[in-house]
Amino acid sequence: MKVLVINAGSSSLKYQLIDMDNESVIAKGGCERIAIEGSFLKFKFNGEDVVIEQPMPTHSEAIKLVLDTLVDQKYGFIKSMDEIDAVGHRVLHAGEMFTGPVLGTEENIEKCLSIKELGPLHQVPNIAGVKACKEVMPNTPMVLVFDTTFHSTMPEKAYIFGIPYELYTEHKIRRYGFHGTSHRFVSGEAIKYLGLEGKNSKIITCHLGNGSSISAVKDGKCVDTSMSFTPLGGVPMGTRSGDLDASITEFIGRKLGMDATETLNYCNKKSGMLGVSGISSDFRDLRNAAEEGNHRAKLALDIFAYSVKKFIGSYSAALGGVDCLVFTAGIGENDGNIRKMVCEELEYLGIEIDEAKNAERNNGQIRDITKAGAKVKVLVIPTNEELVIARDTLKVAFGK
Ligand code: AMP
Repeated sequence: MKVLVINAGSSSLKYQLIDMDNESVIAKGGCERIAIEGSFLKFKFNGEDVVIEQPMPTHSEAIKLVLDTLVDQKYGFIKSMDEIDAVGHRVLHAGEMFTGPVLGTEENIEKCLSIKELGPLHQVPNIAGVKACKEVMPNTPMVLVFDTTFHSTMPEKAYIFGIPYELYTEHKIRRYGFHGTSHRFVSGEAIKYLGLEGKNSKIITCHLGNGSSISAVKDGKCVDTSMSFTPLGGVPMGTRSGDLDASITEFIGRKLGMDATETLNYCNKKSGMLGVSGISSDFRDLRNAAEEGNHRAKLALDIFAYSVKKFIGSYSAALGGVDCLVFTAGIGENDGNIRKMVCEELEYLGIEIDEAKNAERNNGQIRDITKAGAKVKVLVIPTNEELVIARDTLKVAFGK
């Protein structure tokens, strides 16, 4: 069976067509600059980049172009659209309405839109992608897979904030957490790898990428996570500030003459590693600059690693110990320096890494970088959010 996975953003739409018989990727690519002049579709064909420039005023044209290209005589990967058995969509937010993936029925789509305020930058384009797909493939099952639902098992004490309770009951202000498909995937892989299925397990998963979040996972279930009401919370990230004393946002607005929306935008887009270093949000640039003696680049890396370390400490307290620490995503999988900085001086928790193993390059496989004899397993696990979405899609659409 073949599943098309769609991740629709405000001006982009990424896709993967996955053969679920062997879980291999048949085709992958993405449309960029949707609704902006100069839109194009880019994908790999026989190892070469192919770019098709075409106006895409809405997500519908983008989806149509993706599907046309998938069955194209020259660049096609399949003979007909009928070969696509189901479509899985990444959707940011389930609010408190769903605790797992659901069918993309009209009713569920409306429910998702009813909470668009909780994530306007993602939720609306995510659903635009679902609607556009339904229009073009009316008889193909659509499945919605959420970034938040893995965290729906958190206990109240982890998700209620110290503000009046009515703000939760009336306005649903609470911790939701994000990157759920990634935390679910890598914690599940760790449990399998360590043979902990059906046993008690305490795992801390560090999804460190352009956006970063840390989760505490007990017996396969999330009990706490660092991202919060929105993906702005937790550790400082590429361009996001991470947790801030709320007074700071009001103060920034007053000092820089910005309203609340502008201030939030500033915290989301101009802060984090980019804001501290003044150079880049990319850890490769920061490492190069730090090695050339740039203090602010080194400081940004130090702040990041220190912040991740503090979450590991607090989550080992929340879990009552830790059996396994997992690193994943762009930084977690590739940046041995950051892993080393994070793990330094965590010996008291039983976390020690083998420097040589840690320095080995990412090979796309699970890597055990634990120092011989250390109590806690430290694993590098490549994340695969698309595969999780495709698996969920088969389960929800066909019960497989
Ligand atoms: P992601 O959001 O998971 O795609 O991660 C993207 C981020 O990973 C980039 O912005 C970089 O900061 C980081 N990254 C990717 N490759 C490397 C690498 N080889 N070394 C260090 N950081 C990397």
